[in-house]
Amino acid sequence: MKIQIQSIITCPQCGYRKEEFMPTNACQYYYECKQCKTILKPKPGDCCVFCSYGNVPCPPVQEGNNCCKK
Ligand SMILES: [Zn+2]
Repeated sequence: MKIQIQSIITCPQCGYRKEEFMPTNACQYYYECKQCKTILKPKPGDCCVFCSYGNVPCPPVQEGNNCCKK
């Protein structure tokens, strides 16, 4: 199974989409929208901004791990 490390984040505030690289060994909890400067945080139950707003889940979740939910 191939792990994707790129994800397109869609800002829930303004709808701006940006392709970002995901860190493979950590979760990214905060993300600043490049357009409206809103600081995005994960939705309840999600481990990182990529799982909440990206088109692919973060690499640890793709591997079947629970990421930072320790
Ligand atoms: Zn935005």
